[in-house]
Amino acid sequence: MISKKLIDLGVLALRQRNSRGNFKPHVSLRFRDDAGGLRMFSVDTTRTPNKYPQPDAYLITHAHSDHHGKSAMLSERALCSEKTAKALEIRHDREYKGQTFKLGEEFELEGVRIKTFPTEHTAGATAFYWENDVGTKILVTGDVKDASQLPPCDVLVTEANYGDPEDPTCHFTDDLDSLKSALLENGAVAFGAYEFGKTQRAVELLRGFGYDGAIRMDTRARVLTRSMLEAAGELAELDCTQEEGVFIVPPRDLNRLPWHLKKYVLSCRMDYPYPTIRISDHLDAPGLEEMVRKLDPEVTLVYHPGGNRPAKFSKHLNSIGIDSISIDMIGNVLSNEFV
Ligand SMILES: [Zn+2]
Repeated sequence: MISKKLIDLGVLALRQRNSRGNFKPHVSLRFRDDAGGLRMFSVDTTRTPNKYPQPDAYLITHAHSDHHGKSAMLSERALCSEKTAKALEIRHDREYKGQTFKLGEEFELEGVRIKTFPTEHTAGATAFYWENDVGTKILVTGDVKDASQLPPCDVLVTEANYGDPEDPTCHFTDDLDSLKSALLENGAVAFGAYEFGKTQRAVELLRGFGYDGAIRMDTRARVLTRSMLEAAGELAELDCTQEEGVFIVPPRDLNRLPWHLKKYVLSCRMDYPYPTIRISDHLDAPGLEEMVRKLDPEVTLVYHPGGNRPAKFSKHLNSIGIDSISIDMIGNVLSNEFV
């Protein structure tokens, strides 16, 4: 199915298939630039093999693996923030080959004026904004923690990680009080947090509470955190003989730490064998709805994550009178069909 509303606005949303016939991740957007030239931006997708026509840009919103920067970073047409490029290089131990910008900058790419905005999902996480030949304002957000800096648009391409309003786990607020209490407990405390994103958020929050002691984590997490945060404070190696202080490790590694540490997972998921403290990198379902209302698009395309959340959020938007389609509803072309 092709969205008539999108076509009327001069935007064609496509899903490509890979050589095995499966859908490639996420979407490509085709539109005309001011000079009438046909352009295509691929969003958070893997590279198309070189023997096929390439998009004008691979937009990488941030460096989480389900946004496929590991593949796209090897194309000279990749486009992401300096911090995202750095995070991809550290995480995947390979050189970023594309173009970068400072988050917040505005620049021209292939005749298209692109503006960039922070979504506060991870360090460097970027929303991309541009207009096509008929003046349609297009905004691609990636994952969003804070929509307050995003501009109004006509076509919104966004996420629904916690976009199912019927699911109680999609309703949350950050539990900063519990994080603060855990920090103030005597002795050593360990927080389970993913290496990229949640770990840097935890460091920022703990420093914001006034904690200025060492925060211990493994080498790669330290390198990442130092390059992502300007004021990370003292980061030290994982020395489990320490009787005091703060440790941050991936949730699966908490059980490797000694028993004398108090352990928590920083997550909105409830399926961990440790107490969780609700700290999220995302908007919850009411937050996503509020974002859409504020940005006031004519149509919202929900493109992420995999599974049924995009369809559920999209259905919800339609049920409250906001025009929306989800990625599972859009048509596809073979990667050698478009020019
Ligand atoms: Zn993410």
